[in-house]
Amino acid sequence: MKFSELGLKDAILSAITELGYEAPTPIQSQSIPYLLENDGDLIGLASTGTGKTAAFGLPLLNKIDIDLRSTQGLIICPTRELCIQISKDLEAYSKNLRGLNVVPVYGGTDIVKQIRQIERGAQIVVATPGRLIDLINRKKIKLGEVEAVILDEADEMLNMGFKEDIDAILEQTPDHKNVWLFSATMPKEVARIAQTYMVDPFEITVGGKNEGNKNIEHHYYVVKERDRFQALKSIIDFNPNIYGLIFCRTRRDTAAVADKLMAGGYNAEPIHGDLSQAQRDRVMDKFRNKTLQILVATDVAARGIDVNDITHVIHYQLPEDVENYTHRSGRTARAGKKGTSIALINTKEGRKISSIEKIINSKIELRKVPSTNDIYETQLLSLVDGLTEVEVDVTRIEKFMPLLMEKLEDYSKEDLIKRFISTEFNKFLDYYDNARDLNAREDSSSGFGRDDFGSKRKGGRDRDRDRRDDADKQRFFVGVGKQDGFNHGALLRLLCDNTGMNKGNIGKIDILDKFSFFDADKKETENILKKMQGVDFEGSKLNVEKTKGGEERGSAKRSYGSPRGERSERPRNERSDRGDRNERSDRSERPRRERPTSGANKGGSTERSSRKRSYKN
Ligand code: AMP
Repeated sequence: MKFSELGLKDAILSAITELGYEAPTPIQSQSIPYLLENDGDLIGLASTGTGKTAAFGLPLLNKIDIDLRSTQGLIICPTRELCIQISKDLEAYSKNLRGLNVVPVYGGTDIVKQIRQIERGAQIVVATPGRLIDLINRKKIKLGEVEAVILDEADEMLNMGFKEDIDAILEQTPDHKNVWLFSATMPKEVARIAQTYMVDPFEITVGGKNEGNKNIEHHYYVVKERDRFQALKSIIDFNPNIYGLIFCRTRRDTAAVADKLMAGGYNAEPIHGDLSQAQRDRVMDKFRNKTLQILVATDVAARGIDVNDITHVIHYQLPEDVENYTHRSGRTARAGKKGTSIALINTKEGRKISSIEKIINSKIELRKVPSTNDIYETQLLSLVDGLTEVEVDVTRIEKFMPLLMEKLEDYSKEDLIKRFISTEFNKFLDYYDNARDLNAREDSSSGFGRDDFGSKRKGGRDRDRDRRDDADKQRFFVGVGKQDGFNHGALLRLLCDNTGMNKGNIGKIDILDKFSFFDADKKETENILKKMQGVDFEGSKLNVEKTKGGEERGSAKRSYGSPRGERSERPRNERSDRGDRNERSDRSERPRRERPTSGANKGGSTERSSRKRSYKN
């Protein structure tokens, strides 16, 4: 199929031709004609990198009425990076559509500027949920004319705790709108959104439901815990042309792995929550333009990383949450390319691999950590390839040739090869000559049950965690609660983003109406108090404190060491400005709009046929 057969406007076709897109990807050839010809909802199940942005972006652009200034298309996505990427893509696709404005709105940057851009007229808004809610609360964005809402990476948004935000946003949009939902996986929560907000959606699945990208090869290596880093090095050395993304679970491990790689002379850098936005942007730019070969990242920092040509994703540690394996691996094999996902596991983690295999519906192959000999051979061949492919600037070297020939005249061809190769190769000889075999055997007697990873069953590990909870956990107070739009996911996200902890460090969470509590590893107390104090939650600066003694551990479900009525004694979060405070109290008293029930929507065939469209076709 050709793009010209899909029914897109010439102005759009010329822009994608300029981008070098020759033929539509599978998701594009299925969704574009459907969305152009039908006035309906759509679910697109496809992994990242399959061309989803154009799959929804091109028909959306085709349908926008440029003569109207109102917001007709609303795209909601999980991260700032993705928000920027989608906006850039849409701008490129619409460069020949004069008068069409795409405005990205995301947190962590000047909201006033974004408001100004919206006020100038944005037919398409691309937004992250938190910032969009903020704009809605400030009454700075009108969604009453929205014709299509696109939920991109819906599973990732729910993973990040945006469920309530998405509900609240969708409530602000007209009932007759279309919802186009894109997701790599279809967990229950995504199905619930589909059921609640969509009418008889057309479903497109590329590569099978919950199935990983077929262009990704999945490998795993079993090593002793202490050999993890050596094994990583061997794998990198065995893949000299790697352009790779390495995932670690915590900010600390991320920094440590990157430090050790850099000290070993590798072109690697970390990206994690301890870096400022400017530092993260700088690292991402280097990685994107390939001056950086290896990026070591936490799951949180890597969200939305949208870089083509990544050859390897390495799970230095498996993700805490099994769904994250798909998200991590999906960073390679984008746009029809091939890629490899490599997991390093210790002898007790074998069962986790079978759990992941079930989710991705694909085999993960056990591989042997390359031997010294294999690494030597690969490196030597790579050096030779480098020699044969190097461009020789004859004119500049020519005049030095007599001198060089004279200096080298006593060496045979063999001697010369050995010497040139050794200038690069000696570092491997030094390192690997005393190397051990790093392969370990899986421990079949390990305590992991088959569904220990990600299951609801209380296995030994969960029981241990519960037991540990009481002794090793500290309880904390946070001065925001349900009334402020705070929820479980938001708290987890803020903790993981700002402290570098992962879910494993966090225990029980209680979100009450006006404030919240959570348990976390005692050893993280200073870290939490330092990093969470004053963190921004939708315009509020968070106040986080230790609760007193152990008393709240049992009773905190109700209050902060005092009866509910005495709450006013607790320090509240500072608002970042007065306007915010007014907005916030407005919001808590604002009557909630009724959410359409799935039943109401389901019976909507007449409603569907009477939907009034304002798009120009
Ligand atoms: P996406 O899944 O939308 O992030 O797209 C992944 C990458 O594929 C992006 O770099 C797009 O520019 C590129 N891409 C999307 N559609 C096509 C196409 N039909 N032909 C070539 N490249 C494409």
